[in-house]
Amino acid sequence: MHWLDIWPHSVGFNSSGLHACLVSWPALPALRGNAGSAFRTNQGGAVMSAALPNMPKVSSRMTGKLEGIHAINTNTVTNDFCNKQKETDTICGECYSHHMLNTFRKTCQPAWQHNSEVLSSVVLQRHELPRITAAFCRFHAHGELINHKHFINFVNIARDNPHCTFALWTKRKDIVWQVLDDAHHSKPSNLILVWSNPKIDKVVESVPRHFDKVFNNVRHDRTPQNCTGQKCIECLRCYKHDADTDIIVEAVKSGTGRVPKSLQSNGSGVTINV
Ligand code: SF4
Repeated sequence: MHWLDIWPHSVGFNSSGLHACLVSWPALPALRGNAGSAFRTNQGGAVMSAALPNMPKVSSRMTGKLEGIHAINTNTVTNDFCNKQKETDTICGECYSHHMLNTFRKTCQPAWQHNSEVLSSVVLQRHELPRITAAFCRFHAHGELINHKHFINFVNIARDNPHCTFALWTKRKDIVWQVLDDAHHSKPSNLILVWSNPKIDKVVESVPRHFDKVFNNVRHDRTPQNCTGQKCIECLRCYKHDADTDIIVEAVKSGTGRVPKSLQSNGSGVTINV
């Protein structure tokens, strides 16, 4: 059963306690509407929108590589998993998000902390889910899954916005597997799960269960890169099920989130070797 299928009618916890369903659906159409209609704030260049106190804020003006792609982010800096990973020699040890949120994107932290809190604390009611007005939306240009509720909320946002394709980058295979192995949950076809391989220079070419793509980072590996230096909106390889490949390879970025000039492509998707 799809979780949203039982949303308006029932309350329940599954046997593993991973989710709660909600009771009633009074006057929801009146409460919903464009997420941007109630208020918009400008946080460090990214315009955030939300209509109700519990509604996650949508960043509609991402910059750089994500220019033109909407995003729902959370706060990397307060994420326990991210903070632990940051001290390792994985790609998290090079985390551009930590650097940005502690320096020139500091003003994004309050909005993305709001998202961390609302997405991880409760399975949101349908009228609290944001309406996405774009064709493509990224879950977590910044941030990482915090817990099962967080992932279930993303699944529900995708299901409730069938006109938009969402891509979620995550290293938390454990959370995805635990939720999607449960017969009560299923993945909507407009949600693409990208497993973010933490190991640098160890390109993985097999896609994990329930995932659609693998994102790899290389510093010295000779595997051809098909992502480095491009803008997502011009590429969309991660946002399409029928892309030429599901194995993505990018050069490690510097702390500013930029790919070194020597590794940048002309944006046409050409392969570059390190
Ligand atoms: S492969 Fe394309 S869509 Fe995926 S992250 Fe790289 S530029 Fe973006």
